Parts: sequence; C-alpha cells; structure tokens
Amino acid sequence: MDEFEASLCLALETKKEKGLLRHMRTVEENNEINIFSSNNYLGLARDERVRQAAIQAIEAYGTGSGGSRLTTGNLSLHERLESVLAAWKGKEDAILFSSGYLANLGTISALMMSGDTIFSDELNHASIIDGCRMSRARTVIYRHADMRDLELKLCNAAPEGKKLIVTDGVFSMDGNIAPLPEITQLASVYGAWVMVDDAHATGILGETGAGTAEYFGVSDGVHLAMGTLSKSIGTEGGYVAASANVIQYLRNYARPFIFQTSLSPGVIGAALKAVEIIQTEPVYRQRVMANAEYMRTGLRKLGYRLIEGTTPILAVVIGEAKRAVEVSRCLEGHGVFAPAIRPPTVPEGTSRIRVTLSAVHTRDEMDRALAAFAAASNEI
Ligand SMILES: *Cc1c(COP(=O)(O)O)cnc(C)c1O
Repeated sequence: MDEFEASLCLALETKKEKGLLRHMRTVEENNEINIFSSNNYLGLARDERVRQAAIQAIEAYGTGSGGSRLTTGNLSLHERLESVLAAWKGKEDAILFSSGYLANLGTISALMMSGDTIFSDELNHASIIDGCRMSRARTVIYRHADMRDLELKLCNAAPEGKKLIVTDGVFSMDGNIAPLPEITQLASVYGAWVMVDDAHATGILGETGAGTAEYFGVSDGVHLAMGTLSKSIGTEGGYVAASANVIQYLRNYARPFIFQTSLSPGVIGAALKAVEIIQTEPVYRQRVMANAEYMRTGLRKLGYRLIEGTTPILAVVIGEAKRAVEVSRCLEGHGVFAPAIRPPTVPEGTSRIRVTLSAVHTRDEMDRALAAFAAASNEI
C-alpha cells in the first residue's frame, strides 16, 4: 500500500473507532424484513398506475432524454411537469433538476453571491449546506427553529446585499415542522427572501399535499419552494417553484441545470401520475399520518423518548452512537429495518433510530415493529 492509500485507510480507521463507519446493503438481502426507513411515504414508487405511466413514457420517448434541457433534451413532458408543480405550489413557474440535492446546490449557488447573506437553520439538509458553501455568500447559522436567534442575526447582518433565509420544511432527522409563519414574518420585516426545502413535506402536509407553506397558509411569503420527486412522489429528481423571473434566471445561471442531461422520460411520466394521485386522493396522506400517530403512541408507551412531531418521521433518541447501532441491530434480528442515525448526520449524543412510516404499512406490520422495539429495550 502506498502513502496515498494509507492515508485513506487511516481516515477509515478513525471512523471505525468511533463506531461511525458506514456500510451499504441491498434492501433485497432479506425479504422477510419489514422496512421502516423508506422515504416512499405514500407507497407510490410501487403503485401500479405510476409504474404504467413510466412504461408509457418510455414507450413513447425512450429510456434517456439524450441531452440537456437547453440543447436536445427538452420534452413537452418536462414542461408539463414544471407547470403542474408550479401551480401546485402557487407559483408562476418551476424548474426541474436531476435530484433534490442538485436543486438546492444549483439554486442557492446561483442566486446568492459574495456580498449577500444566507441565514440557515443549523439542522438543514447537507444539500443546503453545500449550496451555501458553493455560493460564496456569507452564511449565518441560526439555532434550530429558534426565532429569537434568527431575529438577532437578521438584525446584526450587514445591510448591503441580498438576504435569504433557508430552512427545511420538515426536518429530515427530527421530523418536526419549521415555524414558517414566524420565519416569513421576520423575512418581510428584515427584507429577506425565504426558501423552503419541502423534501419531506410535499405530498404529506397541507390541504392538497403541497407542503409546509400550504399547511400554514403562507405560500405568498415563501419565495422559493424547493422539493424532490424522490420521496412521496416516488421517483427521482428535484425542483424549485418561484416567480417567472427567478425561474428564467435559474435556467440561465444554475449550473446543475445547464450542464446536466435532463431527467429521463420514464421518471417524468411517473412523477406526473404520482402528483395527480396525491392531489386527487387525500386518503394516502391521511393514512400515513394515522400510521405515524399509531407508532408514536406505541413507542412512547414502551418508554422510548421521541422528538416532538406530527409527521411520518419519528426520531427515537437513544444517545450514544454505539448504543443506537446496537438497538438497530437488535430490531433487525427481530425482522425490522430502522437505521441508526449517527454523527455527523445528527449532533453528538443524539444518535437515534429513525423510523419512517408509509401509507402502505399495515397494522400488523406496525405491531410487529413495536414488539421488536419492546424486545430491544429488554435486551439492551
Ligand atoms: C432527501 C433530501 C434532499 C435531497 O433530495 P434527493 O432527491 O434525494 O437528491 C434534499 N433535502 C432534504 C431535506 C432531503 O431530505
């Protein structure tokens, strides 16, 4: 082994000692296991109608788009999905990216520049953090959902330059909802724009499932409504909905949009169908919310400590990373897959089991999961 590789192994060894080394596994490895960690909240990734829509789009347009949107890869399907998403989010227009990760990276880095200031919740998703880093704007981190801290930081910010407050709508590791009424209020007082990452709220919260802004009735106060197609919508891709000017700007300045092959036809066909189902059949989001409530109540009865919340993401806080891993292994021994989430994804001392519910979990599956949690608390 040469020095180059030895230095990499040393870094891996350091992670291993802290119990933080990660391994991949295929979900098919054990098909007896019950999965409580998917972001496929509504079960639409396997829905027959969504699958058929993907197949139809592939039959009509092929498996790949063959180019970027600005060259030869722009299909009417892409434009139709963008206008559906824009209308759903109450905005003039929308822009698709190849993933939610790239939507955040491309949007934040294109809109914000040196001399501007970004105010970012400390628990925001990594893709927001990376977008802030790439933008070269000053980034001010405020304490999680702490409106006094946000106001203080807005108050102390340099007066010149653009200001953007960016937050997850539903926080991916805690499952709580951002206080958007207060955030949009502060933004209007201090002349800032608001960007909301609704990866986990789209399809779940709000009258039509449009997300956090709809849930609170503050869509007009959210300038940039970002989301992904990879969670409740059950495919892949990301988007931002905003004013026509902003979207036109992003089409010209967001590098992950300009320099990447557009999403493939099957993905877009499936997404169009999934959004239609979400908008017309509220029973899916009602079911996932009811399932989450059932598990939350059951886990609390077993004595587990959960972070307060009402969404399909349940954060069962264990504490030490190694213990969380033990609990997760024990659950798996009992046929339940719910991963331990450790630093650096979450703060030290708050390692947890992240349980996510889906509309297609049955009562029987949830009862078996609760039994596994009961066994884990006895064994550990
Ligand atoms: C999953 C997620 C993303 C990234 O979306 P992908 O489509 O998986 O790239 C961005 N933000 C949040 C909050 C997420 O949970």
